[in-house]
Amino acid sequence: MTTPALSVRADLEDVAPYVSPQRPARYRMNTNEAPYPPPEALVNEVAAELERVALNRYPDRDATRLYDAIAAHAGWRREGVWVANGSNEVFMHLFLAFGGPGRTSLTFEPTYSLHTLIPRIAGTRTVQERRGQTFEIDVARAVETIERDQPDIVIVCSPNNPTGNTEARATVEALLAAAPGLVVVDEAYGEFARPADTFVPLLRTHSNLVITKTFSKAWRLAGVRIGYMLADPALVAELARVRLPYHLSAVTQLIGEAAIRHAEETLELVQAIAQERDRIAAELRARNVTVHTSSANFVLFEVPDPAAIWGGLVEHDVLVRIYSEVAGLERCLRVTAGLPEETDAFVAALDEVLGAA
Ligand code: PMP
Repeated sequence: MTTPALSVRADLEDVAPYVSPQRPARYRMNTNEAPYPPPEALVNEVAAELERVALNRYPDRDATRLYDAIAAHAGWRREGVWVANGSNEVFMHLFLAFGGPGRTSLTFEPTYSLHTLIPRIAGTRTVQERRGQTFEIDVARAVETIERDQPDIVIVCSPNNPTGNTEARATVEALLAAAPGLVVVDEAYGEFARPADTFVPLLRTHSNLVITKTFSKAWRLAGVRIGYMLADPALVAELARVRLPYHLSAVTQLIGEAAIRHAEETLELVQAIAQERDRIAAELRARNVTVHTSSANFVLFEVPDPAAIWGGLVEHDVLVRIYSEVAGLERCLRVTAGLPEETDAFVAALDEVLGAA
């Protein structure tokens, strides 16, 4: 029998570790990364700078240059910026500081599973509201739930993973007005949406709004682990209580600074990726497949037998993400947009698999 000292916290007993099934495939269209490496000039600059880093010393604890660079890029006050090892760590800091025992978070399902997993790890009670038609948040129901459950943190994902839709400005304004605490808008895929779809302009008028961003998608730096948030400086100041000292390594900091210097070139391929997204959607529609309109770098679509189609695609060396175990997405697959040849391979494989079915 497990002794109490060796048993996990009772509230973690039914928490399953995060898994994104991986397997070798030539066309890896399952994790929403960019297929393009970062610009060569950025990589060369980082390689040269690495030689000068004092790896025996702790890094700049406040990552001053990286914060300055991100603040300038985002056009937001430096004191209102918070940087961490991926936006997942930003969420962890948010939930350690503003969630936790006795507190509640609210998500709109289906959405990114970490929006529930991270608050649970931090001991937060989680409430999951269902989305309405075409996966938009049902505002009336959301406001009702907020009034009933009084969540300390409401999480919105726009564009939403894995459905791809964005939220209307009026929806987020209604949530901001109703919520007793924070409203976090995860804009991990924001660069692939229309410029008008970002909620950053609402920061000026709403001190309970948090916007999170990541370097893992459009910035082509998923391997580096950098994410950040923008919010009211008073709110950001509280996060310093929960971060570990020196959490941003010297290597992370210098790559992040270099990425901002090369921002224009790094983000140049966003349009090309969005075009592939639209081409995938058009090809699927041309085959009478139900496709959900996406503003991100992926497309969610429905097939009668997702497990068979998924397996058939794998046999053709194309790996996509299957959602058959997620409530509301039982018939869904999600494919990441990237290189034109990946789109070609996906479409050709799908034709073979659909033809065989
Ligand atoms: N938010 C959303 C909606 C995501 O899909 C992801 C990555 N799959 C993340 C945040 C996490 O990104 P990272 O921790 O790499 O910044």
